[in-house]
Amino acid sequence: MTDIIIIGGGIIGLMTARELVAAGARVIILERQTIGRESSWAGGGILSPLYPWRAAEPIIQLWLRSHAEYPTLAETLKRHTEIDPEWQRSGLLIGDCENPRLVETWCESHGIAYERLGPTRFHELEPAVRLTPSSPIFLPEIAQVRNPRLLRALQSELLAQGVRILEHRTVTQVAMNGTRIELVSTGDETFTAEQYVITAGAWSGTLSSRLFPLPHPNVAPVKGQMIIFSAEPELLRQMVLNQGHYLIPRKDGKILAGSTLEYAGFDKDITESARDELTAFAYAVLPALRSYPIEKHWAGLRPGSPTGIPYIGRHPEIQNLHFNCGHFRNGFAMAPASARLLTDLLLGRSPDVFPEPYSLTAEH
Ligand SMILES: Cc1cc2nc3c(=O)[nH]c(=O)nc-3n(C[C@H](O)[C@H](O)[C@H](O)COP(=O)(O)OP(=O)(O)OC[C@H]3O[C@@H](n4cnc5c(N)ncnc54)[C@H](O)[C@@H]3O)c2cc1C
Repeated sequence: MTDIIIIGGGIIGLMTARELVAAGARVIILERQTIGRESSWAGGGILSPLYPWRAAEPIIQLWLRSHAEYPTLAETLKRHTEIDPEWQRSGLLIGDCENPRLVETWCESHGIAYERLGPTRFHELEPAVRLTPSSPIFLPEIAQVRNPRLLRALQSELLAQGVRILEHRTVTQVAMNGTRIELVSTGDETFTAEQYVITAGAWSGTLSSRLFPLPHPNVAPVKGQMIIFSAEPELLRQMVLNQGHYLIPRKDGKILAGSTLEYAGFDKDITESARDELTAFAYAVLPALRSYPIEKHWAGLRPGSPTGIPYIGRHPEIQNLHFNCGHFRNGFAMAPASARLLTDLLLGRSPDVFPEPYSLTAEH
């Protein structure tokens, strides 16, 4: 008998499965298409909110715990699967820090290392960057991962641990027995478990409102487009963020430029105007990029929630239904601690994060 069915196999579903398996649970993941091909594949892999001091405190609490866990997570996955998620502490250089004093105080109170940069030091860190930032700040401990690799490593580890990962299974129906889910159905197959977790990313809100009574997570798709340049190692060393856009250097020299923020429903088309916006930013910050080809341009649907605080916890009316969704722009940055919190709540363990702000009934 399966203990837990997880609906949706992105970073949140996979990390949730990992935590549950570590606690001894038998888990099935039902994924609509193939594992990790939606928002989780499309993201940049920056392991921090973009301007962390602007994020709500419940986001920060999940981020700080995840930040501390990532080095071990990446190392363990690499050892178990021989897939390197390319976790690297490449640092985040922020060009537009609106209130340096306030940001310094914030970093100090949250234990985040920072360095205020003058023009010489800025140039020393990033000789090829042509930004004239107003008040740059450098967060040297901010790391990144390479999303597709982290996802593949997680999938491989979970399969080796006996998790059943069933792809091309869209959950479309449920059968209830009073206040409990009896089974979920994909049309031609049914699946039964003791507990059910929805980790369906941008689809979590519509799925919930189709199948269950109120309350539902207020999660809706927010499109983001990105491009990647086939550049060379050392052209850019740090991740650079300015005016809401960023560049991310990968280990092999590729450089990502992101991202747009578009409220366009479930549309995932890429557009000429987004490509222009991203290339204009990239060329202004790093003119040398003009000499390198754009390898790919893509879009993904973030699971948007009103304040970016995810929904983590049980449905108040349905005893065996849980949610871990709505991570918006910070799904990777918050994944390990989100998975731990959900697992703690589901198994009746005492969480190390105050759970109320993430509950389905809390103001988000
Ligand atoms: C352009 C872009 C840049 C980003 N950059 C960053 C970043 O730098 N750092 C960061 O932390 N975050 C970033 N994000 C956000 C991050 O990618 C998301 O927060 C995260 O991937 C959400 O993970 P998820 O598992 O909830 O959703 P998803 O990865 O979308 O996974 C949900 C899964 O559920 C499946 N599903 C849906 N409905 C059903 C159903 N009925 N039955 C079965 N399966 C179903 C889907 O097919 C999908 O695979 C970015 C996102 C985008 C788009």
